[in-house]
Amino acid sequence: MQLGRRDRIRGRGDGSVPPQGELVPDVIEEVLQKFSGLAPGKKPPAAGKPRRPTLCPGCPHRAAFYAIRQALPQAIYLSDIGCYTLGRNLGAVDTVLCMGAAISQASGFYHAHRMRGEDRPIVATIGDSTFYHAGIPALINAVHTGAKFILLILDNSTTAMTGDQPTPGLDRLADGKPAKAVPLEDLVKSCGVQEVKIIDPYRLADLTRLIKETEKGLRSENGGISVIISKHPCLMSPGVAKAQASFRLEVADDCISCGICYQDFECPALGPDPQTGMARIDPNLCSGCGVCVNVCPQGAIKQK
Ligand code: SF4
Ligand code: SF4
Repeated sequence: MQLGRRDRIRGRGDGSVPPQGELVPDVIEEVLQKFSGLAPGKKPPAAGKPRRPTLCPGCPHRAAFYAIRQALPQAIYLSDIGCYTLGRNLGAVDTVLCMGAAISQASGFYHAHRMRGEDRPIVATIGDSTFYHAGIPALINAVHTGAKFILLILDNSTTAMTGDQPTPGLDRLADGKPAKAVPLEDLVKSCGVQEVKIIDPYRLADLTRLIKETEKGLRSENGGISVIISKHPCLMSPGVAKAQASFRLEVADDCISCGICYQDFECPALGPDPQTGMARIDPNLCSGCGVCVNVCPQGAIKQK
C-alpha cells in the first residue's frame, strides 16, 4: 500500500521510535509516553536480587559445556543461536554469529590456523534444531575442505528457545500428528563425517574423557571432523523431568566454599550460604539431576 501523506507517519523513519535496536518494553514505554504526553508511571520494585540469565537447573547443556571446558580449556569455542548460547556464562562460547555459523566458523578457524602453521583445539557447539535448520550445508563444506575440529550437537530433542516445537529428529509434528523422524546420527554420517558418538552429558566424567580422546584422534593424519551428539531431553519438555531419576542432595560440612558448583558450573539451584559461605541447594529450584555431585572436587555434594 502506498501512503499518500508520509509526513503524518510517526515511527522509526522520523526518529519518534529509535531507528535501530530492539523494541523492548522500556523503549516502547518511552515512545508511548512521548506520544501520549503522559508522565512516566512508577516502576514496580525489582523482584529479588538481579541475576544474569542462565541455563535452567538440571539443563543437560550445562553439563556439556562444563565437560568441554574441563577437557579442552585452551580451545576456541564457536557456538550458535539457541538457549545454549548461554554457554557463554560457562566460558564455553566465544562466538555467536548466525544460525549454522558455529560450524562454518570452526572450519574457517581451522584453515586460518593451518595456513599460519598453528594448531589449536577447536570445539563447535550447535543445538539439534539449529543443526537441522542451518548446520548441514556448513558441515558438508567443512568435511569437503578437510577441516579438523570437534562438533558437539547439543541434542535436547526440542526447539527449546522458541517454545518446545518438535525437531525433525522426532516422530511427531507440532500438532501431534505422526511424522517421519530423521535421525541426527544418520544425517551427520550422510554429510561425510566418519566419527560420530552419542553420549548423555549427565555422564560428566565420561563425556570429559570422550572429548579429550576425540581431540587426540582427530589430530592424526586420517583424522577429520568428529561429531559428538550430546543427547539428553530438555527438562522443560512435558513429562521429561518427572520421568528421569531424581536425587535428593545436600551439601556436607566438607564444603570449602570454593564456589566451583555455583560460580563455574553456575547451577541456579546452588548458591553460597550468606552466613557460612558454604554452598547450599535451593530445593525449590533443584531438579535433582545429580550432575553437581561430580562437579564438586571435595565430594561435598552427597545424596541425603
Ligand atoms: S559444594 Fe563443593 S564445589 Fe560447591 S562450594 Fe562447596 S566445595 Fe566447592
Ligand atoms: S542436582 Fe545439583 S546440578 Fe542438578 S539441579 Fe540440583 S543443584 Fe543443580
